Amino acid sequence: MESIRIGKTSLKASRLAYGCWRIAGTWQARKVTAKAREAGVKAVLAAHEAGYSFFDLADIYCEGVSESLFGLALKQSKALAKSAVIATKCGIRIPEGGETYRYDFSADYIVQSAEQSLQRMGIDCIDIYQLHRPDWLMDPAEVATAFTKLKKAGKVKHFGVSNFRPSQVSLLQSALKAPLVVNQIEASLLKLEPFEDGTLDQCLERGITPMAWSPLGGGFLGNGKADVLPSQAKYKPAKVRRRLDILAKELGASRGQVAMAWLLRHPSGIVPIVGSTQPERIRDLAAAAEVKLTHEQWYALLTAALKEDLP
Ligand code: NAP
Repeated sequence: MESIRIGKTSLKASRLAYGCWRIAGTWQARKVTAKAREAGVKAVLAAHEAGYSFFDLADIYCEGVSESLFGLALKQSKALAKSAVIATKCGIRIPEGGETYRYDFSADYIVQSAEQSLQRMGIDCIDIYQLHRPDWLMDPAEVATAFTKLKKAGKVKHFGVSNFRPSQVSLLQSALKAPLVVNQIEASLLKLEPFEDGTLDQCLERGITPMAWSPLGGGFLGNGKADVLPSQAKYKPAKVRRRLDILAKELGASRGQVAMAWLLRHPSGIVPIVGSTQPERIRDLAAAAEVKLTHEQWYALLTAALKEDLP
């Protein structure tokens, strides 16, 4: 697979990333079976073999199990351990004993979360550490303290954010020495806001790499949804799917590949995060970077995705 430079760093990673949110087959650690663990490790290894070198994780994915399974895959494949660019996240607290579900960017919590992620994955350093969702009580100076501590200790190479609005990126950046290298946001033909609300403009302007989560809308733009977030349940994919299928036929590609190619065509260098757990689909989507859409084909898909015609 072709590679892409992350932000303005010297770090290079695969053009599409592989996301480990679903690899344990459930969101709850106590429900993970031995069979699901085995399938999770296999999915990561399949992604590596298919050419993905960019892996996205989070401490809360299956309450830490996704990171542990990724760590097992690293142990099983030296080649994966050598080539993997590892991105993980913190900032959403896993509620303990009746606690309220909340976001927490306090310095101690960020540092402690990074240390736990390193331990679960069995690695010394995280390549890209992202703040998962903006904490309403974010104090940029406090976040900067945590980042400096982690960087000085050699535990994190670069920092990024996720689900941040442009104003929140600017605010946090104003307190940091090093540039934020990614903003991971939901973007797809079913989620167009980042194209319109300044998020991707800011990425282009500042050289931040946008990473697109749920690039198939959680499955709606593939063969159908599985588990989606409550905000995604209302998606209406029929019109977009019809247009994707027309183009897929013309281009000799799969529907999912065309949906990914639509994101890849944007000049901001969007990195779609593939979320399938099935090796065959993971392989199929790895070839999306070879599907090149023309300006007109891109607009045909946009038009199908918009609620109203372009003025
Ligand atoms: P997605 O690619 O939109 O959806 C993947 C889901 O679609 C899987 O359940 C998959 O099922 C299903 N699917 C159905 N047909 C498919 C096809 N033809 N090809 C591929 N998948 C198909 O992505 P996502 O899993 O929602 O999100 C991707 C990654 O984004 C996550 O792993 C995570 O790393 C990241 N993420 C980040 C945030 C954030 O807040 N930062 C939030 C959500 C996700 P099978 O497994 O059965 O193939």
